[in-house]
Amino acid sequence: QETDDVWSSERLLPHQTVQNLTKWSMYRDEDLIDPHAPVMPEDGEHDADLEWALDREGEPKGNWYDKMYSIRSLPSMRYREQNEEDGLEDMTQLEELHEGSVLVNLKRRFDRDLIYTYIGSILVSVNPYRMFNIYGTDMVLQYNGHALGENPPHLFAIANVSYVRLRDAKQNQCIIISGESGSGKTEATKLVLRYLAAIHHKGNITHQILEAAPLLESFGNAKTVRNDNSSRFGKYVEIFLEEGVISGAITSQYLLEKSRIVFQAKDERNYHIFYEMVAGLPSKQRESFYLQEAETYYYLNQGGNCDIPGKSDSDDFLRLLSAMEILNFSAEDQDSIFRVLSSILHLGNVFFERYEADSQETASVVSAREIRVVAELLQISPEALQRSITFKVMETMREKIYTPLTVESAVDARDAVAKILYSLLFNWLTDRINNLVYPKNEALSISILDIYGFEDLSFNSFEQLCINYANEYLQCFFNKIVFKEEQATDHTFLQKCHYHHGNSALYIKPKMPLPEFTIKHYAGRVTYQVYKFLDKNYDQVRQEVLELFINSKNKMVANLFRNHADSLSHLKKGSSVTRRHQPSTVAAKFQQSLLELEPGIFDMELVSTQLRYSGILETVRIRKEGYPVRIPFGVFLNRYKALLGLKEPPPPDGENCVFMLKKLCPIRAGSYQVGVTKIFIKEEVHQILESKRDRVQ
Ligand code: ADP
Ligand code: MG
Repeated sequence: QETDDVWSSERLLPHQTVQNLTKWSMYRDEDLIDPHAPVMPEDGEHDADLEWALDREGEPKGNWYDKMYSIRSLPSMRYREQNEEDGLEDMTQLEELHEGSVLVNLKRRFDRDLIYTYIGSILVSVNPYRMFNIYGTDMVLQYNGHALGENPPHLFAIANVSYVRLRDAKQNQCIIISGESGSGKTEATKLVLRYLAAIHHKGNITHQILEAAPLLESFGNAKTVRNDNSSRFGKYVEIFLEEGVISGAITSQYLLEKSRIVFQAKDERNYHIFYEMVAGLPSKQRESFYLQEAETYYYLNQGGNCDIPGKSDSDDFLRLLSAMEILNFSAEDQDSIFRVLSSILHLGNVFFERYEADSQETASVVSAREIRVVAELLQISPEALQRSITFKVMETMREKIYTPLTVESAVDARDAVAKILYSLLFNWLTDRINNLVYPKNEALSISILDIYGFEDLSFNSFEQLCINYANEYLQCFFNKIVFKEEQATDHTFLQKCHYHHGNSALYIKPKMPLPEFTIKHYAGRVTYQVYKFLDKNYDQVRQEVLELFINSKNKMVANLFRNHADSLSHLKKGSSVTRRHQPSTVAAKFQQSLLELEPGIFDMELVSTQLRYSGILETVRIRKEGYPVRIPFGVFLNRYKALLGLKEPPPPDGENCVFMLKKLCPIRAGSYQVGVTKIFIKEEVHQILESKRDRVQ
C-alpha cells in the first residue's frame, strides 16, 4: 500500500525541449581502482583435505551441474534472447567500434522506445522528453534482486546492483550521474531514490526523504534556456540503510547560483519558489506580505515571461505546502520563510536616483514605500536598512565615517542583501531537512551525485566557470577511474588520458585585450567574461548589514544571520566576478538548435557531439577491450564455489580459477587473464557468474 503511495506521488514535467544523453556510472567510494567489490574471503585456512568436487577430466563429480544450468546452449553470453531490431543492450559487444556504430545503436534503440543502454556496467540514457511507463511497481519488482544483464538495461538495475554490493561487500556505494544540462540527471536521481524507497522503506522517514527532493527543487531549480527545471545547485544525497531498510539521509548542496536571485537572462526565470508563492499563497497571507503578481517584481520579470507552459505554479505551491507538512515545518517556520522571500521581492523593487552632493555622485532611494515594507517584513529598522544600501561605513578609532554610494554601487549593495537572504534561507532549509532525517546509527550508504550539467551559454560568467569546472573535475575523476582500472590492458588508453588532462588545462588568452578568457574544456571551448572584480566584494556581507539583520525582531531572520556571522569568522575572504550582458558570438546557434528540438526526436548531430565529449566512445572501447573485473583468486573461488556445489573453496591459485571459470561459462579466448594474485575477467563473464550466483542463493 505504502509502496504504491510512494510511486503515485511522482510528478512529471512534460514540457521539455532539449534532448540529451546521461551517462551513469557507479563506484564504491573506497578503493576506486576496483569498482567491482568482491566479497572478502572468509577467515580460516583452507582445508588440506578439501573435497574438490571435480573428477580427473575436470568434469564435476556427478551431473548435478548439468541439471541446474545449460549455459553452453545460450546464443550469446546472456541469459535472455535479444531482439536484433532492438540493437545491442551492451555496447561493449559492438563488433565494430566507432562513433557511427555507437550512434546507430543508440538511435535504433531510441526509435523503439528503449532509452537505456549499457556499456558494461555503465548505463547510458537518452532523454526522450516523454514519460514511458517503465518506472512502476511492477518494474521495481522485476529488477529487484537481479544482476545486470538479466533484465533489459534500466536504471533500476543500477540501483539494485549498488544495493547488492553494499549488502554483500559491506561497503558504501556511490552512483555518479553526469551529462549536459537537461539530460535527465535530476529525474534519474529521484527515480533511484524512489526505487530504493519502494523496496527498502519503513514508515515515515522514507516518505520524508522523498518529499525533501521536490522541496529543495522549488528553492534550487529554475527555468533556463536549456531546461525548464534546471538544478542550479549541486546535490549529493547519501541514503543510509540498516539491515536493508532506509534509516536516514544526508543531503549536501554545493554552489547555489546566487546571481539568479537578482538577475535572469532572457527566457529564464528566478527560482521556482518565488513564482509558486506569488501564485499560490492564500489571499490573506498575500496581503500581509503586500504581494502582487509576479510580473510586477524586477527580480522576477527580467527574463520576459513569468510562466512556464505546462507548469502550474499554484498547484506546485500546494504540493510544496504538503511537503512542508510532511517535513514538520511549523506554521511559524512557514510564515518566516514566505516573509523572507517576500522581502527579497520588495527589495528588488527599491530603485535609486542620482544626485550631486558636494560634486559627488550619490544614490538616493526613490521607493520609500518598498523600504518600509522590507523593514516591516524583516522586522528591522527602515532607516538602518536604507543607510546600509546607500552608504558605506568606515570605522576609525574614534568615529564612524559614512560615505555615500554611487547608484551603481547602491544597486550592488541592494542585490547583495537579497542574495545573502536567499542563500542563508536555502542553507537553513537543507540543514533543517538533514536534522529531521539524519541517521540515528552508523550505517552503510548509497550516495547519488547529481550536479548541474556542462553549460555554454550566450554569455558565460563566473557561475558557468564554476559549473563547468565541477563537470571537468568529474570527467577527470571518471577518466582516472576508468583508465586506472584498465592499466593492465592497452596503453593507448593511458595516452588518451594524458590527452584529456592536457586539454582541460589549456588556458587561452584572447587575441585582443578583452576582459575574457577561454578554457578548452573536455566538452569544448568556453569563453568567460570577466567584468569588474568588485573591489570591496559585495557578495561578502558587510558588517553593518550583518548587524542590521542580527538585530531583527524576527527570530528566524536573526538566527540566520547570527549563525552566518559565527561561520564567517572561520572563513577566509573569497572573491567574486559579476556577470555582464555580452552579446553571443558562438553559442547562440547551438542554443537555438536546442530550442527547436521536440519530444521523441533523436537528433543525430546533437547526440553525436555529446557522445564525443562525454567520453562515451572511450568508455565503450575500454570496457570492450579491457578486463574491468579483477578479483583475488581466493575471493573468486570462495564466491563462486557454490555454483559447482562445493562447500569449501579449492586452494587459491590461478589454475583453479580458470578451471572453475571454464566450468561455469562458455569462455572465449581473451575473456579472462590470469595475474599474479588476481583473475581478470570481462564484464560480460562477470555478469553471467553473478546472475548464476543470484539464482543459487
Ligand atoms: P538535468 O538534471 O540533467 O538538467 P532533468 O533531470 O531536470 O535534467 O531533466 C529535464 C527534463 O527531461 C525533465 O524535466 C523531464 O521532463 C525530462 N526527463 C528527464 N528524464 C526523463 C525520463 N527518464 N523520461 C522522460 N522524460 C525525462
Ligand atoms: Mg538537474
